[in-house]
Amino acid sequence: MIEQVKEGVLYYDGCNTIELAEKFGTPLYVYSETDILNKINEMKECFTDKYERTRIAYAAKAFGVMGIFRLMEREGLCIDVVSGGELYTAIKAGFPPERIEFNGNNKQIHELEMAIEYGIGRIIVDGIEELSLIEDICKEKSKEISILYRITPGVRSDSHDYIVTGKKDSQFGMPLDDHILMPAVDAAIKSEVVDFKGYHFHLGSQLFDNSSHLQAVEILLELIEKTKDKFGFEVEEVNLGGGFGIRYTTEVRKPFSYFLEPMMERIEEYFKDKGRIRPEVVIEPGRSLVGEAGMTLYTVGNIKEIEGIRKYVAVNGGMPDNIRPALYQAKYRGIIANKASVEANDIVTVCGKCCESGDVLMRDVALQKAERGDVLAVFTTGAYGYSMASNYNKNPIPAVVLVKDGRTELMVKRQSYDDMIKNELIPESMR
Ligand SMILES: *Cc1c(COP(=O)(O)O)cnc(C)c1O
Repeated sequence: MIEQVKEGVLYYDGCNTIELAEKFGTPLYVYSETDILNKINEMKECFTDKYERTRIAYAAKAFGVMGIFRLMEREGLCIDVVSGGELYTAIKAGFPPERIEFNGNNKQIHELEMAIEYGIGRIIVDGIEELSLIEDICKEKSKEISILYRITPGVRSDSHDYIVTGKKDSQFGMPLDDHILMPAVDAAIKSEVVDFKGYHFHLGSQLFDNSSHLQAVEILLELIEKTKDKFGFEVEEVNLGGGFGIRYTTEVRKPFSYFLEPMMERIEEYFKDKGRIRPEVVIEPGRSLVGEAGMTLYTVGNIKEIEGIRKYVAVNGGMPDNIRPALYQAKYRGIIANKASVEANDIVTVCGKCCESGDVLMRDVALQKAERGDVLAVFTTGAYGYSMASNYNKNPIPAVVLVKDGRTELMVKRQSYDDMIKNELIPESMR
């Protein structure tokens, strides 16, 4: 178990969380390497080990720092980036460019240039306009690049509206209308500088039902057939995106096989029946590889009891280090790490320290009775926490430590006040 209680203290991947808080300060992001490795291995077992010509491309936007890129590289994964900044970070970490794939609905010319210059593995192209930008850059630099088209299969998936991306009304991908998609496919197949491989979809995030993925696979198979009929072109690669849900509070995480095996069985069977080689299959999990591995430690400060209404427990972080409750009404579970054996029978609302009533990390949850100076652990903050962190109210971005079997290593230093103002200038007229 990653979480353990010894003599009333919470341990995380073998590390005493109170000692972590003392050594590195709070707020602090803590990642269990063991948990990340467990997730990677579970995914390999039912996907890359089980089916040949498959790849896992970790979606870096969930948590994309150099240390994580190194870990993913060591474990043999590819990565999926969505900006020049993520691409740069991965390259600086020594990640092999040919194992990098680039997604995004509005890639900038300088980002595309960077990607083509580094010689990355794939660009997932969001429309015919982007195709011509890429072709121009390739011609100018005498380079070639492999691409897929991102399509919007138009299926509905059940998640928060802000994290549903596969429906037709979306700023991502290309609609399936023939008069839009087919000329784009024709242009990509005929292009002399891009190597068109096939299609990509990503339906949304934090999904617990495989039916939208399975519906999207059917639509994908039809599109593959249409591409063959119309252009005589056999699709070589498909990318099924990510979105596999994780446990925050009461959810039960589905094993990865629940999503991956039925999709793979369907695709394998389809091509076997037709006597054709099935395309290479790629997936892009983000949250499901790192979300449950991460947690955040805070120090409890003010406690305010509003008689007959609510008791607020304020911690020294909040929306700057975790915007998800404010953005998606995300729910979390937590524990007072130095009172881990005590019964959690105090109903409280845990808030942050920002000047926003929306800065609430956990509303009406049962916790051990908190006192100033206690350490609060909030679980499952590994995905879209650090990567969405901000300096709101000029709070420095917390440090990140990687822990494994009692070993601790700093992955990101805590930002200093000077770090925060280093790009700020006093306008000349005010000096
Ligand atoms: C965000 C994203 C992912 C990863 O989604 P998770 O829910 O974190 O698994 C994969 N592919 C694309 C294109 C994305 O935008």
